[in-house]
Amino acid sequence: MTDQPLNEDQQLLMLYEIPGTLTEDQASGHACVWCHTPYGPLIDLGGVADWRPHGCASCRTARLDCLRTYAVWLHHVDQCARCPTAPCAEGQELGQRHSAARDHAGKQAHVRCTKCRERILLARTRANPVVQEGNTAVSRRYAHAGVCPPIRRRDNRALRLM
Ligand SMILES: [Zn+2]
Ligand SMILES: [Zn+2]
Ligand SMILES: [Zn+2]
Repeated sequence: MTDQPLNEDQQLLMLYEIPGTLTEDQASGHACVWCHTPYGPLIDLGGVADWRPHGCASCRTARLDCLRTYAVWLHHVDQCARCPTAPCAEGQELGQRHSAARDHAGKQAHVRCTKCRERILLARTRANPVVQEGNTAVSRRYAHAGVCPPIRRRDNRALRLM
């Protein structure tokens, strides 16, 4: 089999969704990289030489849905005058849609705020998508919308010291 160039879906999955550590079965394409099922048909996610990650159809669809709902949400927030400080109705709706997609893909309900490092429950808290460019990769993260709420834990520690 020759190595085909990756299509856009494969590139996105490769960048953001394929776990960094795979079992031997997963790396060789004999089990879904997300749910570990060995039952097919498993879809080729792109890869090189012996590294041949595959995913089952339902996981792959769910992961792509996470990526798409994030992209749509980010696109809105980038252009919206209100969302960066206080999400508008559409921004909230898009955030909820992404949260539901994460749920469906079996991802954690909590994410970490890039600003205050506290946990955010996406389904309940007003948050925004934040893209961070690292040295080698771009990561898709989240932050509280506007000013982060005060951190209770830190307040307690401060009180004890007084
Ligand atoms: Zn799967
Ligand atoms: Zn908005
Ligand atoms: Zn925060």
